Amino acid sequence: MKIANVAGRATLLVSDFEGIDVASASEGKFGPGLGSVYDDWDGFLAWAESAPARDTVPVSRERLESPSPHPGQIIAVGLNYAEHAAESGFAVPDRLPPTFTKFASALSGPDSEVVLPEGGNTDWEVELVVVIGRTARRLAEADAWQYVAGLTVGQDISERITQSAGPSPQFSLGKSFAGFAPVGPWLVTLDELPDRDDLALGCTINGEVVQDGRTRDLIFGVPALIAKLSHIVTLNPGDLIFTGTPAGVGLGRSPQRFLKPGDRLDSWIEGIGSLHQIFVVDEPGV
Ligand code: ZN
Repeated sequence: MKIANVAGRATLLVSDFEGIDVASASEGKFGPGLGSVYDDWDGFLAWAESAPARDTVPVSRERLESPSPHPGQIIAVGLNYAEHAAESGFAVPDRLPPTFTKFASALSGPDSEVVLPEGGNTDWEVELVVVIGRTARRLAEADAWQYVAGLTVGQDISERITQSAGPSPQFSLGKSFAGFAPVGPWLVTLDELPDRDDLALGCTINGEVVQDGRTRDLIFGVPALIAKLSHIVTLNPGDLIFTGTPAGVGLGRSPQRFLKPGDRLDSWIEGIGSLHQIFVVDEPGV
């Protein structure tokens, strides 16, 4: 099952271009927003099994918004692929990965224009993003997938100067400029995926491949991440977890490379879909 946020309305997709409006089809039991769907995920799944596939509505990409519009928490982890830890000049984490937040005001839908912070070094990080579907607290790793509503694509866009400003690293601000957390294009439930533990992911800049990895190379895979996090924070329906990025970011290149005005960043994950970002400069007075 694929569920999209079409201009604020939960929409069960029947194709990439057409879907069932959840609020209308359920006569108000679920929806209109996706938040209420995650709040009663089990009830929603039971209803969706036999959702009437009539009265479909067109789905156009420019109307898509984040598949979790108001997450209570956006948790992001760093250094979760060995080659990326190496290119960043850090040791591979052992007990816990470095964990930070992307503030919710940075969220956007899958296709967007992103303003480059002035004087910044803005970098790309394609990531598998988990959407939580059930309240999770002190889980065993073996049970963790059951708490996932589905998966989606995210970009952990990062301004590297802000990220490393100050006496100790403080990732959250440098990764939370407006539009720095595009997510989508929709939520895909686990049964739709070829292998939930091994998905190809990558991104291109102006058509040139810069990241090309597989989620089987995650140091802490989705179950391990959820289990470890749930021993510290309670994970709630609608929460997002950015799981970390594979190698190929601009910071780790020689010479280093960062996004420029006019660049187009296309990000994708096998079985889920793609994001499209265009980078622009803020023009004062416009
Ligand atoms: Zn990241």
